Amino acid sequence: MGAAIQDVLASVSFEEDLSKKQQLLAKVALVFAIILAAYTSLIFVLMPGFTPAKGVAVIASLSLFAISWLSHFPSLYRTCAIGVVVITLVCGFGASLSNDGVEGYVAPILITTPIFAALFLGSRATLYSALSVVFVFALLHFMRESALIKETAYSADVVSIATVVLLTTATAICASGLGYFASASERQIESLKKAQRSLIELASELNHSANHDALTGIANRAHLNMHLKSILEAPEAQESRICVIHVDLDKFKAVNDNFGHPVGDTVLKNAAQILSRYAENAHVARVGGDEFVIVLTPEPNVNADALQTLCDKIVARISRPMLINGIECQIGASIGFVISDTLCASVETLIQNADIALYEAKRAGRGVAIQFTANMRDQIERKRHLTDDLKAALIEDRVLCALQPQLCLNSGKVLGIEALARIRSHTGHLLSPAQFLPIYEEANLLTHLDDLVISQALDALIELRKSGHDIPSISVNASANSLRDVQYVDRVRSALEHRALTPDDLVIEVLESVFIEDSDDIAAQTIAKLHDFGIAAVMDDFGSGHASMASLLQLQVSGIKLDGSLVNDIENERCQQIMKAALSLSSGMTIPTVAEGIETSIQHKLLQNLGCEAGQGYGLCKPKTTADLDAWLNAYGRSEVIKLQDRIQAANA
Ligand code: C2E
Ligand code: MG
Ligand code: MG
Repeated sequence: MGAAIQDVLASVSFEEDLSKKQQLLAKVALVFAIILAAYTSLIFVLMPGFTPAKGVAVIASLSLFAISWLSHFPSLYRTCAIGVVVITLVCGFGASLSNDGVEGYVAPILITTPIFAALFLGSRATLYSALSVVFVFALLHFMRESALIKETAYSADVVSIATVVLLTTATAICASGLGYFASASERQIESLKKAQRSLIELASELNHSANHDALTGIANRAHLNMHLKSILEAPEAQESRICVIHVDLDKFKAVNDNFGHPVGDTVLKNAAQILSRYAENAHVARVGGDEFVIVLTPEPNVNADALQTLCDKIVARISRPMLINGIECQIGASIGFVISDTLCASVETLIQNADIALYEAKRAGRGVAIQFTANMRDQIERKRHLTDDLKAALIEDRVLCALQPQLCLNSGKVLGIEALARIRSHTGHLLSPAQFLPIYEEANLLTHLDDLVISQALDALIELRKSGHDIPSISVNASANSLRDVQYVDRVRSALEHRALTPDDLVIEVLESVFIEDSDDIAAQTIAKLHDFGIAAVMDDFGSGHASMASLLQLQVSGIKLDGSLVNDIENERCQQIMKAALSLSSGMTIPTVAEGIETSIQHKLLQNLGCEAGQGYGLCKPKTTADLDAWLNAYGRSEVIKLQDRIQAANA
């Protein structure tokens, strides 16, 4: 489009005008030269005898011939034009003077100088030459009045012939000058009109491409916004409804990746066609790579159910396989739609609400159409507030650690403590990991949280040891993000060194969600680095279905934690088999096993019978603040540690 504009602008060429002017200058100078030569010859015939003025006229005529030739050279163009103006002035004045003030003979030729200057030199030269002409006339008149020049010596006939010839010539020159002006103006007006027509065409093309999607040819987001605005602002909007349907194509990326972009483009074009055909009087726009919006103004008799059915049909239609260049492509569609009274809607809220409903459709597993409800917006608002609060918590020191001891199931000895993150909300409530972990993950802040928990956990360990408790180590959970952060090990090291603690004092629990596929993965390298530094990494949530045998063997882990779900179902025979296998694997690898989530004495007994030596759970001790754990350990240390069974029963009583 930019190139087209350039073409139009280039078509209005001023350089061309200049070279035409130069050619014209050459012609005019030639005409002047011929006229002057003819006139000089006529004067010689009418007024025989040589006078200086006739000599000047001959020289001027020859000079004009020379100028005519010289003006072919572009660099001499301006000089030539100035020369013609000056020579005309000087010759006119000189001739009048030398002819003893033959008033009116040569004066008309002077009049041509401003015209010439206007044609070839510009406004300033025109003004100067016009002033000069006035000055010359005034001077001649003054000289004659003062008898500085004598009355003419020629007969009245001769003078009148010469005057007629000269006036005619001057008039012809002026007329041709004006003619030139007129035709040049006409040509310029014509070329401007042409340029205007091209610009109008271009503007309409630009307008079209600014409002339409280049690939599918349907409206784009800008046009959609305008269309929505026009519906909402229309006078009849008072009592009508509007339905905005946001369609997101599913599995489109796979089509692009598997079959290439040309096929992907055709799929998009097909989708645009399907959507355009689907609803009568619908306005369809492409608002993103694989996102479309349909705007409908349903008739009063079309209710929400009918619109739901329409959206369901669109989902079903888009999901039908498409045959493109012999390739069968199948995509799907998720739809979020909103129905609103036009009176209380704005463009922004309509688009946002359809988007919120689309988000719900995607969360529901895609391939469905979901209508927006006010409740959805409340949820989003709540989530936004929670996200803001959680982000602030990291800065405002509102991260806490709940500490849960890990005990030897046989002796009751404290083997370690697990630090579990908690966040104090701005209202003072304690939030659990299930509430904040997904949000921190989405905001890419998990590593920040993990770092804060490590610091707090190590401080708690030091405090509890200062209170006289023998706690071998403290465990923290590491997210996948932390393990894939190449700086993580350095930060862990410096946290330990900063507190004069040793690598033995810390255990990193690798979450079950960290599914580590091969040993090249950065997370695996992090675990190896931790191992080299002397920090034990244990596989958390083992047996939950995510932690795999393969990754256990590949990684340099120093222990496993049996998932609470296994412990919960421990009375189930199959569960016991899995636990036995896990326990024999860990004993084969000579690494310890900790059972999580021990709540009942039966679970404790069965775990003991299976040979599991360590465990943690609400039945033994619920996660506590440092001060509460200190108190608990004081009481625990003074009690009969062997009587774990009694403790569990008491906890469940
Ligand atoms: P996890 O590491 O497997 O931690 C054990 C979870 O089980 C804890 O839940 C704990 O409170 C709970 N639990 C302990 N004993 C029992 C019991 O007897 N019964 C039941 N039902 N649950 C018990 P919590 O504190 O809600 O933590 C949940 C998960 O959040 C943790 O599972 C861990 O994966 C993650 N998490 C906790 N803190 C952090 C952290 O600082 N960073 C990261 N990245 N993840 C953390
Ligand atoms: Mg854990
Ligand atoms: Mg666990």
